[in-house]
Amino acid sequence: MAPKILLAKPLIDQKIEDLKKECAKALAQGVTPTLKVILVGNHPASLIYTENKKKFCEQVGADCEIIKLSENINPRDFLEVLKKINNDTNIHGCLIQLPVPKQLADLELHDLIKPEKDVDGFHFQNIGHLYSNNSHSFYSKPCTPQGVMSLLKYYAIPVEGKNIVVIGRSLIVGKPMMLLLSNANATVTLCHSATSNLKFFTQHADIIISAVGKPRFLNSDYIGTNKPILIDVGINRDTTGKLCGDIDFDNVLEKVSSISPVPGGVGPLTILSLTQNLIATTFYQKDLK
Ligand code: NAD
Repeated sequence: MAPKILLAKPLIDQKIEDLKKECAKALAQGVTPTLKVILVGNHPASLIYTENKKKFCEQVGADCEIIKLSENINPRDFLEVLKKINNDTNIHGCLIQLPVPKQLADLELHDLIKPEKDVDGFHFQNIGHLYSNNSHSFYSKPCTPQGVMSLLKYYAIPVEGKNIVVIGRSLIVGKPMMLLLSNANATVTLCHSATSNLKFFTQHADIIISAVGKPRFLNSDYIGTNKPILIDVGINRDTTGKLCGDIDFDNVLEKVSSISPVPGGVGPLTILSLTQNLIATTFYQKDLK
């Protein structure tokens, strides 16, 4: 049987309608969910990412402003911008688009935005809630791993009791991915660049989630005989400049039961999660019904 291709589009089409309804409810109560995206400098990819975030927010009826700051802004002025945003009760979400120039690199960027406005889910307090699997407090969860969870749920792929290998241990993808899966009762193995014999782990996994950033490095040699599910978080360019994931898609197809493609798989789900976080925190902060 041909493997199932786990596309983001049907999930996004469904969730956009939900978000539009939620946003309309907020607007009817006099509140416009409002996001500020801080963009420092003119990094070409960041310009595209921030425009895409704005477009998606506006599509559901929320407000999003990209605050463009000079590449040379000094840390004091940068902190002043954030302070104003943190104190403005008409702003519900804020994020700092990475990377930032080196004069800002020493700031604890993840902690500069108030936890309730941290729609990226990177603030240490929010990570702490995720770590302790806190179900009593409101908090935003990191967007890309949350997008993977949404994709698995949409395609009715259970994680409870499953043997899941996450490859990559970054703060924005691998580690929070591990926590979300563990909180959902999966058995998680977190692999990384110092893992010896990665194939041993991947060949026994029910689900493999790759967030490495190396074009098509995961080929059929890494896949066992149990027809696993493969989720590709990687967004890479190959030597010809073509967009591709971490997984050698055509090479593994015969050995998998389901696989997310690049592009069209996990990629667009980060912005979906971000917008879900914005709407949810607006309801939380303004105590909307
Ligand atoms: P990162 O560079 O911070 O982390 C990469 C991880 O891969 C590291 O933890 C490293 O230990 C591990 N790694 C490197 N080589 C390895 C190897 N040979 N074997 C096993 N592990 C290895 O990257 P990141 O920010 O987590 O991003 C990873 C990929 O996901 C990139 O391609 C990035 O573009 C993509 N990404 C996509 C989205 C999205 O879909 N919206 C969001 C964030 C990142």
